[in-house]
Amino acid sequence: MFCQLSLMQLRELLQAKVFSGSKNDRILEIAGVATDTRTLREKEVFVALEGETFDGHNFLASAAQKGAIALIVHKQSEMTLPGNVPLFLVDDTLVAYQKLARWWRDRFEIPAIGITGSVGKTTTKELIAAVLATQGRVLKTEKNYNNEIGVPKTLLQLSSDCDYAVVEMAMRASGEIALLTEIARPTIGVITNVGTAHIGRLGSEDAIARAKCELLEKMPPDGVAILNADNARLMQTAARVWQGKTLTYGLESGDLHGTLVDAQTLEVDGIAFPLPLPGRHNASNYLAALAVAKVLNLNLSPLQAGITVNLPGGRSRRLELPNDILLLDETYNAGLESTIAALHLLKETPGQRHIAVLGTMKELGDYSPQLHQKVGETVKELGLDRLLVLVNDPEARAIAVGAEGIPSQCFATHDELVQYLQNFIEPRDRVLFKASNSVGLNRVVEQLTLSD
Ligand code: ATP
Ligand code: MG
Repeated sequence: MFCQLSLMQLRELLQAKVFSGSKNDRILEIAGVATDTRTLREKEVFVALEGETFDGHNFLASAAQKGAIALIVHKQSEMTLPGNVPLFLVDDTLVAYQKLARWWRDRFEIPAIGITGSVGKTTTKELIAAVLATQGRVLKTEKNYNNEIGVPKTLLQLSSDCDYAVVEMAMRASGEIALLTEIARPTIGVITNVGTAHIGRLGSEDAIARAKCELLEKMPPDGVAILNADNARLMQTAARVWQGKTLTYGLESGDLHGTLVDAQTLEVDGIAFPLPLPGRHNASNYLAALAVAKVLNLNLSPLQAGITVNLPGGRSRRLELPNDILLLDETYNAGLESTIAALHLLKETPGQRHIAVLGTMKELGDYSPQLHQKVGETVKELGLDRLLVLVNDPEARAIAVGAEGIPSQCFATHDELVQYLQNFIEPRDRVLFKASNSVGLNRVVEQLTLSD
């Protein structure tokens, strides 16, 4: 699909200072926007982004050779470009990229669902996308394309083939969700919860709540907010900034109030829905997806029959080993709330022994010791059979401190932990693995699945 813009219009859109290469009134038939010459297609605008390890400005000639329709730079260059490719000079190519994404998104009058929250964004995004896919064609955030580059990248994939867009929005500091919302212009905004993720950077849970609620502040006034009613801090903060249409959901309260009738079934307004993913936290995420379906007036009967959802690696992954051994692989990420949710899921999984293998939760700043200790206390409260901690960074030791009374052991290296587990795991054991991604517990899970 092509979008037409004159050179003048493109220049105005980007507030470019100078451009060279052609006359003002020439019309460009723009096929898309690219930042990587390896994937650039003919007639796409090439935006030279400058990162820590790469600089798109080094690839201008290659972009021109591959048929770029225009080049956008923020550094002057002496080079002569092949052909007659217009070159725009802007203050910041990332800002230009975001403006192009916003412009591109505005070509499509489709429902766009923006999702943020401390935990459960990707899971909820996948659940919403799966629900919408029962009725139409869905563009969704791929991989971790959820930040100031990823959100524009996602939106720039929109085409006339899309009926819905589902966009994950992540943040590390205040102001970021506001920016992403302005780019994505969601018609529905979902906030899954407010917790302690990134508290090290933001300072307090209240600051986190305000940062998440930027989604509501920047949403168009006729948008609809979908909020987790079980999260009191979220509800309080949202009420301060949003007076528009709202649908709340929750397992304790909410307009859309769900009840877990058993581990596999969620009941809402007397209708039973099979849960696509296990655990109470995923039931909550699924309620958010059902709320989106409700706001869009979708037919719920395919959902009553059940839908399948495959999450990207290391989230809610169940690995069955011989002898009815089950590994719960949650190694993709960990924060306080998600670790507690995963520990509950472990405890609720019927089996012989319940073993938690945990490691550091990153980016918790000054709160780190107390939050690690809290995880240990949860292990204790749940009365798990064994706690194994990978202490490849001293913060994790506080988990074992909090779990005092539960048989626990700390390991300095991945190899020691793997060796121990190979001897220790018995038939019908349930073993949860959870830590921040950089701890590398996924390598431990891999070793165990290889050796069986
Ligand atoms: P990221 O900030 O890395 O993008 P995210 O918000 O996208 O994270 P997910 O990837 O969906 O979150 O989930 C991460 C982990 O959080 C999951 O493996 C699961 O253990 C847990 N989790 C998912 N949803 C919830 C929830 N509603 N409440 C608590 N924990 C959850
Ligand atoms: Mg995510």
